[in-house]
Amino acid sequence: MTARTEYLNALGVENWQQRRPLAVQVAKKASVAPVPPAAEPALAAATDSWDMVAGEVAECTRCGLCKTRTRTVFGVGDRQAKWLVVGEAPGADEDRQGEPFVGRAGGLLNSMLRGIGLAREQVFIANVLKCRPPNNRDPAPAEVEQCLPYLERQIALLRPRIMLAVGRIAAQNLLATDTPIGKLRGHVHSFGAARIPLVVTYHPAYLLRSPTEKRKAWEDLKFARRVAAGANS
Ligand code: URA
Repeated sequence: MTARTEYLNALGVENWQQRRPLAVQVAKKASVAPVPPAAEPALAAATDSWDMVAGEVAECTRCGLCKTRTRTVFGVGDRQAKWLVVGEAPGADEDRQGEPFVGRAGGLLNSMLRGIGLAREQVFIANVLKCRPPNNRDPAPAEVEQCLPYLERQIALLRPRIMLAVGRIAAQNLLATDTPIGKLRGHVHSFGAARIPLVVTYHPAYLLRSPTEKRKAWEDLKFARRVAAGANS
């Protein structure tokens, strides 16, 4: 079985066929104006480096989550990846292992990525929060405020071609909005001064609870793949 078939089967989607040329689909689906090419890439401060950010995250005591975490979860993947996947915060498995998306939701995320031809190792995966909120509660605004600068520095170092926000918390915090996730899907948003194209989809943990929504997530991933293919090129 190919990786795509495996994912489509997992999603309950059969006989998927591409109906229209990719560029047309992007134009039709994106109901906001297409994101113009970024004038300048996100530039990391000349003095910043992956090692510096990783070291600071490992020692971080900026919020109370440092008292309850087992390990910080910096992020994982190719530091030259074109794709940045951003989730919410570590769960219990991630807190134990120090790596994002290693639990059941991570398994589904890997399948979703494989469905669009991406191995987990080819993308970079990070979270809005680097530490687990107790009992997996939603991140508090003050925690996001303290932690988001780490992600912003990671983004400036990575300079991804596309960002995929998985779940409401990631999407709303990255886009500084309280618009419901259902309304954020299906548009090309842009992140930060570098106007990095950003696409929103459902969180894999939500998809595990609500399998009927998997078909929409599959549409989002195909949409993101088209955006990535067209953005800045
Ligand atoms: N959920 C997330 O949002 N991130 C993880 O790393 C794991 C689960």
